[in-house]
Amino acid sequence: MRTKTIVPITAEKLAGCGSCQKCSRGCPGHIDIPAMLKIYCKFQTGEKAALRPIKDFRKRGLPIDCIECGACTDHCPKRFNVRAAVRELAIQSMLR
Ligand code: SF4
Ligand code: SF4
Repeated sequence: MRTKTIVPITAEKLAGCGSCQKCSRGCPGHIDIPAMLKIYCKFQTGEKAALRPIKDFRKRGLPIDCIECGACTDHCPKRFNVRAAVRELAIQSMLR
């Protein structure tokens, strides 16, 4: 069986993300994942206020709602490690 390599997300790589939304479809946490990935990339640059917009998503899914099912990574045509990025956002937003 051939398995595809899972690709870590960076701002540079996210430029290749077409916001196809395939990662969000079927997310049990109802998380707007492409929006979270943009926040994640800003956070990776060290921008202090990068996590602030997360609270605007509280009526939908928040990173903390992620149950780490991995469906997002499985559905991403670019095989981005979406689950790890959402998990990191969940941890970071709990620490603030
Ligand atoms: S499925 Fe992958 S390429 Fe499509 S929006 Fe999500 S992260 Fe981007
Ligand atoms: S791993 Fe988290 S973000 Fe990805 S589909 Fe599952 S619940 Fe949603």
